[in-house]
Amino acid sequence: MSSVYERLGIRTIINASGPSTRLSGSILPAEVAQAMAEASQHCVDIAELQAWAGEAIADVTGAESGYVTSGAAAGIMLGVAACVTGLDPGRMNRLPDTAGMKDEVIIPRSHRNFYDHAIRAVGVKLVEVGISDRYSGAGVRDTEAWEIADAITDRTAAVAYVMNARARPDLADVVKAAHDRGVPVVVDAAGQLPPQSNLQRFVEAGADVVCFSGGKTIRGPQSSGILCGRKDLVSAVALQHLDQDVFYDLWNPPASLIDKDRLPGAPQHGIGRPCKVGKEEIVGLITALRLFVAEGDEARHARWAAVIQSLAAALETLPNARVDAAIDPGRPVPGLRLEIDEAAAGITCLELARRLIDGEPSVHCNTADVYEGVLGFGPMCLREGDVEAIGRRMGELLA
Ligand SMILES: *Cc1c(COP(=O)(O)O)cnc(C)c1O
Repeated sequence: MSSVYERLGIRTIINASGPSTRLSGSILPAEVAQAMAEASQHCVDIAELQAWAGEAIADVTGAESGYVTSGAAAGIMLGVAACVTGLDPGRMNRLPDTAGMKDEVIIPRSHRNFYDHAIRAVGVKLVEVGISDRYSGAGVRDTEAWEIADAITDRTAAVAYVMNARARPDLADVVKAAHDRGVPVVVDAAGQLPPQSNLQRFVEAGADVVCFSGGKTIRGPQSSGILCGRKDLVSAVALQHLDQDVFYDLWNPPASLIDKDRLPGAPQHGIGRPCKVGKEEIVGLITALRLFVAEGDEARHARWAAVIQSLAAALETLPNARVDAAIDPGRPVPGLRLEIDEAAAGITCLELARRLIDGEPSVHCNTADVYEGVLGFGPMCLREGDVEAIGRRMGELLA
């Protein structure tokens, strides 16, 4: 089958790692691609489409309101901007100059990562709190909620929280510490699906803004994300994100998204304007989200486990390698670890990974543990025929 990439002379790769931006995200279900193609053939009022999408997101997440962003990182930037400006259009126009505004965001020190560029881009300073001495083994504790409470001042615009299964302190305790002092909490939950109950869990814990990636497990467009949370903050997000080249008298935003009567005037283009979202992404993301919810964790897990089992069968007979397939239901995403006996194989795992990438077809696996002699494989972005191709390449390289 001739694909657009063949016509353009761009090679495709086998993505045995997972839906990362570097490897172009996920593979869209046919329904999602079809919905995006149809969406591309008409024009709509983009604020109306966002208001509709926001209601669909609110339905699924249980949040007051929702919005489609160009990714979780964009959502974090917009969410923090909303916490800084509230519904003040003058402040929106001045960002990232935060003079005279609350200009600090508190983050547990162990949550720092380079996605926090998205926070700093707003013009705020990150204030790191606590020390994770559980990491070094010298102690047992991470940042604690009282330390966050202790760090809040009248310059604190928000508390940022990066969710994962081992995140400390507990989100509900952080929310209490922050809310007791009138400060909102913004949660980066980009990769925290499945389980799909997480779509509601962080909102239920009291977070004011929660952001998910649309292009990871949801299998929406790569440049899409979900933002959900407090209605006034979502309004402030929309005001700083939508195209605002309109006379105030002609401006008629959907009331469910923006209450024009609450504003002294409309802001011009805001800080979120460079992360615009097209109608195709909005329609694609909501289509993907509905499919994600309809499939359910169990069927999704079984679909992924079947891919890992066939990969395990293809790799089992390799010399100098040991297959460790993890398909137990307790693991949100099934995966496979291939332990290489580097001395016996006469090749390092790093060199294997390099040859897989440079070979034909090019195979990318998860190299997080490559220096420990392990290659990781994930099921999410594998297509029909990929498992056989991976087995063949590994056979050639380890022969
Ligand atoms: C993937 C990821 C992001 C970025 O998500 P995008 O949707 O690609 O913008 C942010 N934070 C964490 C923890 C992530 O894993």
